[in-house]
Amino acid sequence: MGEARHPNRILRGMTNDQLETMPSDWQRALAVVAHPDDLEYGCAAAVAAWTDAGKEVAYVLATRGEAGIDGLAPATCGPLREQEQRASAAVVGVDTVEFLDHKDGVIEYGIALRRDIAAAIRRHRPELVITLNHRDTWGNTFWNTPDHRAVGRATLDAAADAGNRWIFPELTEQGLEPWNGVRWVAVAGSTSPTHAVDAGPGFERSVRSLLEHQAYIKGLTDEDPEAYVRTFLEANVQRSADRFGGRPAVAFEVFSR
Ligand SMILES: [Zn+2]
Repeated sequence: MGEARHPNRILRGMTNDQLETMPSDWQRALAVVAHPDDLEYGCAAAVAAWTDAGKEVAYVLATRGEAGIDGLAPATCGPLREQEQRASAAVVGVDTVEFLDHKDGVIEYGIALRRDIAAAIRRHRPELVITLNHRDTWGNTFWNTPDHRAVGRATLDAAADAGNRWIFPELTEQGLEPWNGVRWVAVAGSTSPTHAVDAGPGFERSVRSLLEHQAYIKGLTDEDPEAYVRTFLEANVQRSADRFGGRPAVAFEVFSR
């Protein structure tokens, strides 16, 4: 649906440019993204704040990011990136990290992906689901990747699939009862954010969390890893500050259910 056909967004844009505070009346969140590092590039400060508050957050990754480092063959890269992802999750208080083993770079949006994500939602029974930008671009002419689009869209769809007993009856046969308790799907990195979390308390841990992706960052830039990570994450949380009372923030586009 185009922006022009979305009256709520038009209204919000015209009357209230501020981002709302993210809902906090929930206990369990499940983050579903395509690759190791997707959550660390912007979301980890919010996750740290949530786990500090005693909430449970689990991560599900569609791939092991095995096609993500040019100088490293997938068979070596996959296990290494899995290890880095588990370490970066632990920094922000997340102990549960699962992999769906779709193929990095060529994730297909479709029934199989929706079923795998619906199964994860039924296993974890979250009230809040997090995913990454499902839209075509990151804004302007920065094209998004097919993996992010596929996983983002399938996650938005699977939040409903998980609650319907008749869509994937094989999941019920496996003992995964329907879960219709997802109240929000929050999309990080969206071009149309609506809500935000104060990035202050979790910011330093978000830096250390992204730094755990050592091999990936080494393959990406010759810059000092900490300088690179800090510059990126600072810019990310500052981008939303003027819409969040001047506070650095992690922004999300929240779809209520
Ligand atoms: Zn990614």
